[in-house]
Formats: sequence, structure tokens, C-alpha cells
Amino acid sequence: MIKIGIPRALLYYQYYPMWQTFFHELGAEVVVSPPTTETVLSSGSSRVVAETCLPVKLFLGHVLSLIEKCDYIFIPAIRSVQSKVYNCSKFLGLPDMTKAVIPESPPILDIDIDINKGKRKLYQAIYQLGRHFTWNPSKVRRASIAAWQAHLNYRQVMSDSGLTPPQAIEEISGTPKPEPKTHSSNPTSPQATVAIIGHPYLLYDEHISYRLIHRLEQAHNRVLTPEMLTTQELESAIARLVGRAYWTYEEEVVGAGEHYLKSGADGIIGIMAFGCGPDSLMMDMVRRQAARLRTTPFMSLTLDEHTAEAGVVTRLEAFLDMIYRKKRKQVEICV
Ligand code: SF4
Repeated sequence: MIKIGIPRALLYYQYYPMWQTFFHELGAEVVVSPPTTETVLSSGSSRVVAETCLPVKLFLGHVLSLIEKCDYIFIPAIRSVQSKVYNCSKFLGLPDMTKAVIPESPPILDIDIDINKGKRKLYQAIYQLGRHFTWNPSKVRRASIAAWQAHLNYRQVMSDSGLTPPQAIEEISGTPKPEPKTHSSNPTSPQATVAIIGHPYLLYDEHISYRLIHRLEQAHNRVLTPEMLTTQELESAIARLVGRAYWTYEEEVVGAGEHYLKSGADGIIGIMAFGCGPDSLMMDMVRRQAARLRTTPFMSLTLDEHTAEAGVVTRLEAFLDMIYRKKRKQVEICV
């Protein structure tokens, strides 16, 4: 059986169930790289210049960890998944960049996804990918339909049950973690409700985020994430704040930020990567809106491989302290 490697980084958190279903339906076995460690991160960082953003370094580290474990590595070049909405250039060049900096990588299976080129081109790209496994177009078609359905189920599970992508993936694959679910197990009377906004590849990689979500929950806070919102809620929040999205995945930052600023979160934490152009623009829009509204405290955290854990923890504690004090004051005024 052909083994397809999928790096546990970047768009893994958005699309893993879809990709896994597609390859499985075509008779291939999927191998996912193990969770991030310091070795994975430093091996990826060693292949590129320092200015490269943290998630791309991490992605390359995950590719390195899949060497000799699979026959192919799946790295799509996703240019656009919505009409006239564009992806960051790093995603466009990911297959070529990987080939250039990791020449020892197993052969790369890439697919060009660009919805702006029309549906016909998209279907052709999917058939081309499927031809690595079968010459039967109906089989590829069936696999694509099953994959799309898996993606819709995945989104539904996250918004209906309030699960994070890693939890939803475990739930779907039938291997739930022994520990209780994060978001559905909100404390009966949480100290505060804190929304976290940012890309899933930053929020849910426990190594680079220093287990931020876990820390917030340990401190008895209720945590809200972008995936807990429906597509409609995210789109209407973007429409309110900026009119029309320009960047793919803008809803994870701008949409979720605008929504939670107006929906009763006690504080919002924006997570972004050092060296990320799109994020610095998007996070700034949320920051300005927070400053305009003056109702919800907002803090942004920029992560890179040199970020010290103690620094993150100190900022987090100070931010929570401020939120708790603000809440206490409001209660005193009401009394
Ligand atoms: S959006 Fe930012 S963090 Fe993500 S890949 Fe592009 S530059 Fe890196």
C-alpha cells in the first residue's frame, strides 16, 4: 500500500480529515508526522533563512520527520479557496520551497488549488492528483465527494460541539484523548471568558503556543476559539469590520476578533507569528477596533522560535489579572 505523509503543520489543522479521506478512498495509507518537539522545530529552522516565518520553519521540520516513513509527501499549493480572496505567498510556493531546501524529501505530491481559475481547472487538478493511485476517473470523483463530505462534517463537529481541530480530529477518527474535552467542559462559573484568535497552526500546536489554551483552562477560564463560530457568523463579522476579505483565512483573525469583541468575551488574545505580513495587518485591524470600542481588553502575542516561555506566561498572567479586576469592579458598581 502506498504511504502518503502529511506534515502536522500549517493547513493540516484545516483540512486533515478531507485529505485523509481522499487518500484512504483511493487505497493509500496516510502517515501524519508526530507532534512538534524542539528537535522538529530546530531541524526545520536550520534549512531556511532566519526571516522565514515560524509556521513555515515548523512545517519543514515536520517534512524532515517524515523522511523514510512514507513514499510521498502531500504538499498542496493553495492559492485561493474563495473568489478574489488570496492566500499568503508562503502557501503558494510551499511545494517548490520544500523541494529546494529538503532535496532528500520523498517525492512531493502537489496540487494547485486556485478557485479563481474556475471549477474546470480545479477538477482537472484533482484528477491529476488521483492518477497517482488510479486511472479510473469515477473512483477519483467518488473519493473527492467523500473527502468534501468529511470536510463539512469536520467543520460541523467543531462549531456544534465547541471542539478544537485536534479534538475534532480525534473525535472523528474515534480515538478521543483520555483527558476531558477543552471547550465543552467549561467550568460552571468560569473566572472569565477569554477568546483566542489566530491561525489554527499557531493556536493548536502546543509546543509553539506554550499550551496557551490549556493554561487558560487550568486557571478556570472559559476559552473561545474561531472554530466555535459558524461560517455565517465569521463572514458577517468581516463584512461589518472590513467589508470584504482580501486574505484567505482572514476569518480566523479579523472575523473572530470582530465577533468576540461584540459578543461578551471578557478579553481577547491575538496570536501571530513573527515575520508574518498578513497577520500584522489583520491583527492591527482588530487592535484598532478594540481601541475604538473600549469594551474588551485585547492583547497580542507574537511567537517565534526564540520566544521565552516565561515571557508568555508573565504576559498572560498580567492580562488575566487585569480582566479579573475589571470584572470585579463591574460587579461592585452593580451592587
Ligand atoms: S500567513 Fe503569515 S504565518 Fe502564515 S504562512 Fe504566511 S507568513 Fe507565515
